[in-house]
Amino acid sequence: MAIKIISNRCPQNHRCPLLHVCPVDAISQNGVGLPVIDETKCTECGKCVRYCAMGAMHLK
Ligand code: SF4
Repeated sequence: MAIKIISNRCPQNHRCPLLHVCPVDAISQNGVGLPVIDETKCTECGKCVRYCAMGAMHLK
């Protein structure tokens, strides 16, 4: 999995806007908790990395 979420950069206090950014619906979130990426869906396109205002998504 090339995408990593850097948990200490994510404020975990709001619905993650990236849920609507991912073209393959690979990002989910329980409430306002840390988002989770489904590695069986993720195509490693890097779109979430570009859109995350907190810089919490990292593409290796
Ligand atoms: S890299 Fe692309 S496919 Fe994977 S979670 Fe981010 S936006 Fe979705």
